[in-house]
Formats: sequence, structure tokens, C-alpha cells
Amino acid sequence: MLVTKHVLAASSTHATPYYLIRGAHPGPVMIITSGVHGNETASMAAAQKLADDCMAGRQTIQRGLLIIIPRVNQKAYEKRIRGNPDLNRTFPRRVSGKGKHPLASAVFRIAREYGPDWWIDLHEANGLSQLSSRVLGQTLITNPGSRAVPVCKRIIGQMNRSIANRDRHFNLKQHDLPGSARTAAARLLQARSVTVETCWSLKRSVRIKYQTRIVRHFLWEAGFV
Ligand SMILES: [Zn+2]
Repeated sequence: MLVTKHVLAASSTHATPYYLIRGAHPGPVMIITSGVHGNETASMAAAQKLADDCMAGRQTIQRGLLIIIPRVNQKAYEKRIRGNPDLNRTFPRRVSGKGKHPLASAVFRIAREYGPDWWIDLHEANGLSQLSSRVLGQTLITNPGSRAVPVCKRIIGQMNRSIANRDRHFNLKQHDLPGSARTAAARLLQARSVTVETCWSLKRSVRIKYQTRIVRHFLWEAGFV
């Protein structure tokens, strides 16, 4: 396994680290992003811990290429704000299109370069989806008809079997959100792309644990480990 650290948008005020983790054998390509919204700190902590664990050799992948960008919107993160404009509405909407924000363009340039089979975008949201279908907390979200749906259903089943409090169970949602990383990855790169949303009224350590376990399930399902 080879792990290297790089800087995205290096010559700009948006500069932020990313990690390339290569297994010993050829295999799938997965992008993991978090911090597209700067106030969703548990998802960023989970992604950074995975990158750190790979750097230190505590986590290994057998094959493929894993790309982790733990704090996409570094400026929003420094202020612990969602970010203005909402970066998750500025990703390209056409095959040859550019992002409407330099940071979205920079992230998508890497994506086009490596051609991900998977894109997992880690977020946090209000509410518990088990109690109201109108909220996004504790959900996995794909685009309608995504090839990721069967995997998402398996992961939700495994997560929910391990969560005693049913109010915290995860649910699957399927919808298009033009301008989001998820929908751009699905439509323009044909990636299996999934948004992970934990409920940020839960304890931070619990949210980090859920995010970490869901990412581990995706790594296993995609054949990295
Ligand atoms: Zn978000």
C-alpha cells in the first residue's frame, strides 16, 4: 500500500489536503469527500481519521485507489459554517461543464482524472428519518435508479441491526440534486454515488462512529479490503 498526501487548489485561498491511498493490486477507484459543508464536523473527523489511519498503516486496503478529501471547504470549516454559496449546488451539471465555484471545479478535476467507480460524500443533517420522512438525518441518499441502491440497502440493514434505538435507524432516499457532488458523479462520471447523512443532534462521538462504520462497509462492499 502506498499513501501520499497532496494539496487541492494549492495556489488559492481554498487550499485543502487530500490523500491518495493505493492498494498493492489493481481494483476500484473510490472518492470520499467530507466538509463540502464546513459545519458538519463529525463527517470530517471520520474522514480525517481514516486518512490518518491509512498514513500510519493502521488501516490497509488490498487493491484499488482510495481518494480522501476530508475538509473540502476549508474556509467554511474554519468558521464552522455551511458555506456561502452552498458548494453542494455548484458542481458541474453537464459532461463538459465546469463547476460554478473554483473549489467544486478543483474537486471535480480530480474526479475526472481518476474516474471513480464510487463517490461517497459524507454530510450531516437535521432530524431522524425514522421519525419523519421529510428530514435527512440518518439516511443514505442515492440518485433514483442508482446501481448503488442494493449496496445501500445491505449497509442500512447491517447498521440498523447494530443500533438498538430504532429512532436512530437509517433509511434510504433516492433523489436527484443537480449541482451536488452526488448527482454530478452519478450523471457525468457514471459513479455509484452516495450521500451519507448522520443526525447532528446526536452525540458527536456517536456520529463519528456511525460515519466510520458506514465508510468501512462501503470499502468492503467495493472490494478494497
Ligand atoms: Zn451537508
